[in-house]
Order: sequence, then structure tokens, then C-alpha cells
Amino acid sequence: MDFEAVIGLEVHAELDTRSKMFCACPVIDVTTAAPNIAVCPVCAGMPGVLPVVNERAVEYAIRVALALECQVYSTSIFARKNYFYPDLPKGYQISQYEQPLARHGRLVIQTSQGEKTVRIRRVHLEEDTGKLTHVEKDAQSYSLVDLNRAGVPLLEIVTEPDMHSAEEVRAYAQALRSVLRYLKVNSGDMQKGVMRIEPNISVRLLGSQSLGTRVEIKNLNSFRALERATAYEIQRQSELVSRGGQVRQETVGWDEARQQTFTQRVKEGEEDYRYFPEPDLPPLVVEEAWVEHIRAELPELPAARQRRFESQYALSAYDASVLVAEWEAAEYFEQAAAAAGGAPAKTVANWVSGELFGLLNQAGKDISASPVSPQGMGRLVRSVASGEINNNTAKTVLAEMFAGGQEADAIIAERGLRQVSDTAQIAGWVAQALAENPDQVRAYLNGKDSLARWLFGQVMRLARGQGNPQIIQAELERQLSALKN
Ligand SMILES: [Zn+2]
Repeated sequence: MDFEAVIGLEVHAELDTRSKMFCACPVIDVTTAAPNIAVCPVCAGMPGVLPVVNERAVEYAIRVALALECQVYSTSIFARKNYFYPDLPKGYQISQYEQPLARHGRLVIQTSQGEKTVRIRRVHLEEDTGKLTHVEKDAQSYSLVDLNRAGVPLLEIVTEPDMHSAEEVRAYAQALRSVLRYLKVNSGDMQKGVMRIEPNISVRLLGSQSLGTRVEIKNLNSFRALERATAYEIQRQSELVSRGGQVRQETVGWDEARQQTFTQRVKEGEEDYRYFPEPDLPPLVVEEAWVEHIRAELPELPAARQRRFESQYALSAYDASVLVAEWEAAEYFEQAAAAAGGAPAKTVANWVSGELFGLLNQAGKDISASPVSPQGMGRLVRSVASGEINNNTAKTVLAEMFAGGQEADAIIAERGLRQVSDTAQIAGWVAQALAENPDQVRAYLNGKDSLARWLFGQVMRLARGQGNPQIIQAELERQLSALKN
């Protein structure tokens, strides 16, 4: 039996505002801060307090909704989602339910099968919960509550069930992260939990139109975990169904150590949350003029930038996609290309996404912390393209620039790495090589063409790798054809 997976995704993205969603508490890095230092009566859920909507959070949410080509509604309603959990001091989360901020968007993703459009079902605003730390100590177990994160603005972005493989799910999540970072509304720092992904997965017989029972995987915060957990769940359900079993509707977690999913709870229905309109907040009304102003200020987004890179710089779709994924890398490339003089942009792209990314990876650095400036990178590529230094030398020079921060020209001059382009000197090497190898020269002149390559090697040996190969090749051809006549 062949199965098809049907997958939708919910992504929770924190919004990088200065203050929380409904109070003036600052949004801080909860992974490094001391617990409970950014808490007030509102986000601690004290009785008698009133929430006030953070306008900047609404603006960021609209930015995302527009970038995802959604319809933004002039009126949306905040709702209470009631459930009890110790990290939620109010006993409910303020979210949006029946009337979200935006609906009906789309995001185009790149997969090995080509481009694909994923429909966005809805985008809505809500607040994050606090954090629990479970402690086992002296045969006692207890939990610590940290409310620094409680009330941080959170955007929930929900897709239609348009994806069918772990690869597509990963591509969507990466594309979405890239958009959020271009919009400067989220740091994209997955390890810090600022973007959490929840795929819901079902399987059906290939060709069937009905939907199977879905299983939701909670709170994945790396692309690797997302891809593996999704692949695992597709496999598990397919095997279960082909044995005649039935998938149970449930919420599962991902066990990183065991590389398998485990049951967290058998899914409650939406009715269990007893949603109702938030009585402490009026409907959220956004003026059309404001929405249009935000639309006009949107930056060039990754997909548009990729198309521009393909046409303006003649890059392949793949090369362009690698460069545009991170806003900083795309900026870096454009500045390096501008500094590279007439060198082909394709060569600049190769040096940036090949050599430089490699060095950054090894050093565990982001491109924004690159010791080699884009201008320095551009000038280095120009030196290669003009034949001043060869490829291998340039790699050495780049490594030195990366380690010491010196400019390419200084390193090339200091270490005497410049390739000899002096025609007189090169003509001397060629003449010497021909004089030292009379038998081979005669054989060549008698028609053994393949010896030209061998003779070129002899000249390169005399030049000890310091001669400009293009000039050597031209000079060798000139002297050999002079002997022919
Ligand atoms: Zn607060």
C-alpha cells in the first residue's frame, strides 16, 4: 500500500517588541535572565488589572500578514482560551479565535521538486506563557515557574494542510523564518525558542481524497527535529495503518534521545477551551490607511530578492536561494559584488557561499561577525579574476584575512604572492623549457599535439606556480607556433 502524508503547520513566533503584549514589562532574553525580573500584576494575572494592547505588536503582526499575502481584517476580536496550567497565571490565554487578524495568505517555497505554494489559513495575535522548570532533588520533585516570558507578544501562523513530506515541511519553516527575519520582527534564534513549530500529520492511501486522523507534534524548535519528527510520524502512521491499525487523535512530543515521538495527551477538542470574547479588551480595529502605510514600507522579501539575484547577477536559482536565505548574507554578497570590479557575480557568489561560509561555520560565527568585510572579499575576488593571484593562493589569503583581519592587497604584497604577469620573465621561462626539452619539442612539431600540455607543465614548474597561467599558455603557444614556421 502506498500512503500519502497530509501535513499542516502551526508556527508560534515571538514578536521582537520592546514591551509585552498587554503590559509595559520589557521583553527580555528569557534564556539568560534571572527568573521573574520582568513581571507586573498584569502578566502575573493579579485580580483587578486590565490589559492594554501593544500597538507595535499589532504593527509587526500586520507586517507578517501582508508579507504572507494575507487579507488583513479591519476588525478582529481577542478571545479567552481557558485552560489551567501553572505557567499561565490568569487561567486563560488571550488569543484570537473566530475573528483573527488575517486570513487567506500564501508562501512560495523551494523544494527539490521545484517551487510550491503553501496556503496560509490564518495569522493571529496572542500572548506567550511562562516557563516551567521541573526539578528532581533529594527524592523530591517540584516545578519552578518563571513568568519573564508570560505575556510576550506571540504570532500564530497556521497553514492549510498543503504539505506532503518532511522536506516540504522543513522548506516551509525555513522560508517563514527567513521572512520573519527580513521583516525584523523575530530574531530567528531557534535555540532560544523564539520560533516553535507544530506539524499536524495524517496519512491516507495515495489517491484518496479523505483525510486521516491527525496527530500533532508539539513545540519543535529546530529544523532538524522538525524534519526527523515529521518523517518518523509519517512512517509510524503508515506502518500502523498498513497493519490494519487505527491512528489515534493525540498530541505527541519528540524525544530527541530516542528519535521517536511519544504520547503527551489524547487530544482535547476546541470546545474544551471554552473560548469566548475577551471582556477586558475592545475589538481590535486597524485603519486601512495604517495597513497601507505598513504595506508600502515592507522591505524586499526573500522571494523577490531571489528573482532579482537571478536576473541582475545571472545566478542560478540554487545559488541565489543560498544567498537570500539570510538577510545579512544577501546584503554581504551585494556589497562584495559591487567591490569586485568586473569580476563575474557568479564567482563572487561562489567565494561567499563556499569559502567564506565554510570559514564562518568552522569558527561558529554569523556572517554579521565576519572578520572579512564585504569590500575586502570583493577586492580578493577581483585579484583572482584579473589573474593577479591564482585560486589556491586566494584561498590561503582569505584564510589569513579571516584569522588576522588584514586586507588582501597587504597580505599579497607582504608575502610576495602576486603571480608574475611580466611577459619578459614569462617568455624567458618558456624559452628555457623549450631549450631543455628538444626531443619533446621536435615530437610536438611532428604532430604530437598532446605534448603541448606536458610542455606547459614544464614551464609552470620553472615558474614555481608564480606565473600567471593564462599568460604562460599564450606565450607558449606563440613560441611553439613561431618554431613551426
Ligand atoms: Zn507585565
